[in-house]
Amino acid sequence: MPAYLDNNATTQPTAEVVRAVADMLTDRWQNPSSVHRGGQAARHAIELARESVARLVGARPREIVFTSGATESIDLAIRGVVAARMLARPGQPVSIVTTDVEHEAVRDACADLAEERSVQVRRLPINPDGRVDASALPALLDAGTALVSVQWANNETGAVQPVADIAAACRAANVPFHCDGTQWAGKMPTDLAGAPDLGGGIDLLSFSAHKLHGPKGVGALFIRRGVRLRPRIRGTQELERRGGTENAPAIAGFGVAADQARAWLADPARRQEAAARRDRFEARVLAAVPDASVNGPRQPALRLWNTTNIAFPRLEAEALLLLLSEQGVAASAGAACSSGSLDPSPVLLAMGVPPERAHGSLRFSLSRTTTDAEIDEAADTVDRCVARLRASAPAVR
Ligand code: PLP
Repeated sequence: MPAYLDNNATTQPTAEVVRAVADMLTDRWQNPSSVHRGGQAARHAIELARESVARLVGARPREIVFTSGATESIDLAIRGVVAARMLARPGQPVSIVTTDVEHEAVRDACADLAEERSVQVRRLPINPDGRVDASALPALLDAGTALVSVQWANNETGAVQPVADIAAACRAANVPFHCDGTQWAGKMPTDLAGAPDLGGGIDLLSFSAHKLHGPKGVGALFIRRGVRLRPRIRGTQELERRGGTENAPAIAGFGVAADQARAWLADPARRQEAAARRDRFEARVLAAVPDASVNGPRQPALRLWNTTNIAFPRLEAEALLLLLSEQGVAASAGAACSSGSLDPSPVLLAMGVPPERAHGSLRFSLSRTTTDAEIDEAADTVDRCVARLRASAPAVR
């Protein structure tokens, strides 16, 4: 039985999600924009899913836009807000504030805006644990700042960013705050209408169904009422904020996944159990490989319960990943999309992790369905594989 500890594989869709998707394809496959009864049945399913997704994050249903995933949500948030700003104040200089530890969807959108539209990209300093120094934010904001974009939790290290402090600085300067919540939503309590540490100060939140046991290729963008944003794809769907016929089956699956995540989140003991499982995995690996170390915050409250990022000095991450995969353990190195490349993770480098340690770093992600047996199996396998690689190719760097 393979142990899936890869961020993109550990959150397998549940049986209920699969059924919801199949039901849509079988019984409610018509176009949700059609006025006939079949179309309206599909529309109804989408609106129910919107309510479920909105409930998961404490939003109003009308504040939720369905997209093809977090990458598109991020693109819509960042480029949409900047475009609205440029239209409102033509010819004025525009800046955005972000960090070097964002997912590449954010990093690339900001880089493109800098290149194409001369937007100035300012960066918050990063501490060695991967968290931003929010006290530096007020000095980076001015009348030309269109947006601040900082993730909630990091996809490689699990580092949790001080979103309440960031939101407070944004509110004080009247700058919208976009948060990439892809790793957070569905794994941690979120209430966009509630307290600042639950997201109450966030203006735009991007997230994705497949990180919470939903289907891949569907996501959402929360847009707080009153935030000015220009659509990227024109069309009447999604209140004219995202054109194109909706992926109704995936959206229905997302709705079921959101309900199930919300039910799981209702009992904090489950998160503590899951965190304890991650800690046990980590402790076993660190005991077996004494020179290994964890990248990211060590305090439990500052790291998401599902992630551990471990540096194995003198090893190449790719070699270890392949051997682990052969032995039935799925893990990842850097961002999933850059697996296969030999470049060390830019996120780890931005934290000041030396390149030789970043080269040998792997991330292991758990989900709410990860079992003790998987953890034990994976920890034993890591131990065996590291020993084998070191015996066959000592001192790679
Ligand atoms: N942002 C973060 C933090 C992620 O972890 C991911 C996916 O891994 C994304 C954005 C992109 O999400 P999607 O694959 O749904 O486009």
